[in-house]
Amino acid sequence: MDRRNGGKNQRKTQKRPQNKLNNKAIQLTLNIAYHKDFLNHKTGKHHPENPERLKTILKTLQKNNIWSEVNKINPPKIDLKTLENVHTKNHIKNIQKTTKNGGGQLDPDTTITPDSYQTALRACGALKKLVENAVTQKNDGIALNRPPGHHALPNKSMGFCIFNNIAVAAKHATKKLDKILIFDWDVHHGNGTQKIFYQNKNPLYISIHQTPLFPNTGKTKETGQGKGKGYNINIPLPKGMTDTDYNYIMEKTIIPKIKQYKPKLILISAGYDAHKNDPLANMNLTSNAYYQMTKKLKTTQTPIVLTLEGGYQKTALANSTHQTINALLDKKPIKKPNKNNQKISKTTKEKTKQINKIYKI
Ligand SMILES: [Zn+2]
Repeated sequence: MDRRNGGKNQRKTQKRPQNKLNNKAIQLTLNIAYHKDFLNHKTGKHHPENPERLKTILKTLQKNNIWSEVNKINPPKIDLKTLENVHTKNHIKNIQKTTKNGGGQLDPDTTITPDSYQTALRACGALKKLVENAVTQKNDGIALNRPPGHHALPNKSMGFCIFNNIAVAAKHATKKLDKILIFDWDVHHGNGTQKIFYQNKNPLYISIHQTPLFPNTGKTKETGQGKGKGYNINIPLPKGMTDTDYNYIMEKTIIPKIKQYKPKLILISAGYDAHKNDPLANMNLTSNAYYQMTKKLKTTQTPIVLTLEGGYQKTALANSTHQTINALLDKKPIKKPNKNNQKISKTTKEKTKQINKIYKI
């Protein structure tokens, strides 16, 4: 299925107060990893995953003076050894070769350009760098990177994704941390991430996504295998869910699960395509949902590192990213939440109950 048609037919630090550790107040900064090379993966004007996405985010952050308040990280390219912990040598070579030969289509969705290999290495390296920083200094971070990653399998690119950025960074972090959580709020299921860690209990993978929708994986019964049994949580939802539904699931299932599991690091596959204006999906979130989800995650007092995944309506994507960063910086939301108190759908209540029963939450 072609996703493009598949939906609806430097260094200036701002100190901020943070959580208290050992009863001693510490000052942390928010790291943002961005590199102009992320604009080099030129998929074409009509491809939904194009450089304009990042340009719009950057413009929005600069206009709102966010850019000057964060710690900017210059992301390196990932080293092959770390990449090979997740991806096969053949897959990596294939991307390198296709790039050298001028690029091409790996599938109807996934375009390779002459710069894609180097860009994908840097997109992956950005997240690794932020994760290392979160492990050693407890800083939150966000990678404004592309291409995205969560659909990429060990031996195959798909769904606009070349290398699985979050899986590579999580795998790297497991060397130091015994409990990592990946929370995937992109509207599509992160089939690649699930597959890579399906038999592991570290990291714990939680995905909230629309169903039916590309890639048509992510059923509730997919709970993990072997040692990973019980460490893969899928929350598939029908189209049309609102901020109220997502808030309810956060409060009843995701935050209680995080408090039970006690991760030392939270990684987020931050796609913004569950926004109501997104052309590739049919959820009904406003940008405020991302502010509220991030705020709730912060209450767990765990370092949070996000990586950009989807989000194909540029303004919605930029505003939602801005809202996420405002929450990370303890700023107010750009728009107040809708007070019309939408009703929580029956499906949301039932799904929450079902998941909580399976995973003893
Ligand atoms: Zn997506």
